[in-house]
Order: sequence, then structure tokens, then C-alpha cells
Amino acid sequence: MGNRSRAGRSNAGSGLNVAFRNPVRTAEDFAGIAGVCVQLFENADLLAMNAGQYEFGFALCTRCGFADSMHSATDDLPSLDGVPFREHLPITGKSSNNRPCWRHGEDELVIRHLHFAAEHNTDLLQLDLERANSLRTPAMAVTFAHTVHLAAAELLEVDVREISLSTEDLRQGNSWRFHLYDSDAGGSGHVAELIARRQNLEMLF
Ligand SMILES: [Zn+2]
Repeated sequence: MGNRSRAGRSNAGSGLNVAFRNPVRTAEDFAGIAGVCVQLFENADLLAMNAGQYEFGFALCTRCGFADSMHSATDDLPSLDGVPFREHLPITGKSSNNRPCWRHGEDELVIRHLHFAAEHNTDLLQLDLERANSLRTPAMAVTFAHTVHLAAAELLEVDVREISLSTEDLRQGNSWRFHLYDSDAGGSGHVAELIARRQNLEMLF
């Protein structure tokens, strides 16, 4: 055991954190492209974090669950389409209810600057373009990531939503890595099959 490493952003904010042990399989020149290195990890732990649209977290109504992104580090509540947060309609209960969720002065019902997170354990492919000189611009790298994602679904004859793509590292400029993983918790064998049938990807590009 041990040897757990982490990829992705480890600081607070939005993004995807990935923790995994040693790869169970590794391949070079993935899909026939020189320098593309791919590693398969089983039982990777993914932590998806959402700090809201402006990275200041959400305001959450503890009575009905209504939430909206906070705009700044201050405690000022956001407004949605000009409607102040404290006048929001309840999102649960009768659909015909058009009375505000809070009565006058009830703003102790809110949690401010809340960051959401969800854990997911699944099988994951890490593709590293560090040595793939032909793909090392941000636009090329992100385009390649989406191309692999779509081609993988076509090759495996599955809905594209059964495989998830994270280009968080590429977009943040943290590394030249991106991640494909089985959308179902526990892994459904798609990304493991993809690395096994990687030669067949070339003809789909
Ligand atoms: Zn509410």
C-alpha cells in the first residue's frame, strides 16, 4: 500500500482532485501519436469540488435547499435575476407556492460561502502530453482530449456520458495531463477496455 499520489488542484476552489496508487497498466505513443503516455489506475478516488461561479462559495437556504453563487468574500447575499436572495421562492413544497421562503427578518436560515464536494471511486486513465510535442499548446491539448473522449465512446459503442473527461489540469495550466474515467462508481470496464484496444483508436481519428 502507500505510494498514493495526487493530481489536480489541492487548494480550495473548484476542480477535480485525483488520488491513486501505482498504475496497473502503462502504454506509450497512445493512439499512434508520438509521446502520448497513458496510465490505467484502478479504484482511483476522485474528489470533485465546486466553489461556485465566482469561487466564493454558495449561499444555501437551510429551509428549502435553494443555493446561488456568492459574488465576493463579503457576507452580501447574491440576487438572481434581480430578485434578492432573501426573497427567493422555496424550491421544495407545493409547486403553486409563490410566497417567499423566508418571512421578514429570517435570514439566519442561510449558510454563506459553502463549498460543495462529491467523492467518486472508479477506474481512471491518465493521459500525459508532456512529451507529445505536436500537442503541446493548450488549444491542441484540450481538442485532443475531447477527440479521444468521443472516439473512445464510438470505439466501445457506449454513450459518451458513460465515460467522463476532466481537462482541469490543462485548463489551469498545472500540467499536460487529462483524465478519462468510468462515470459509474466502482468502474464499468470502459477505460480498461480502451487501453487494451488503443490500436483501434488510430483509425477513428
Ligand atoms: Zn429557501
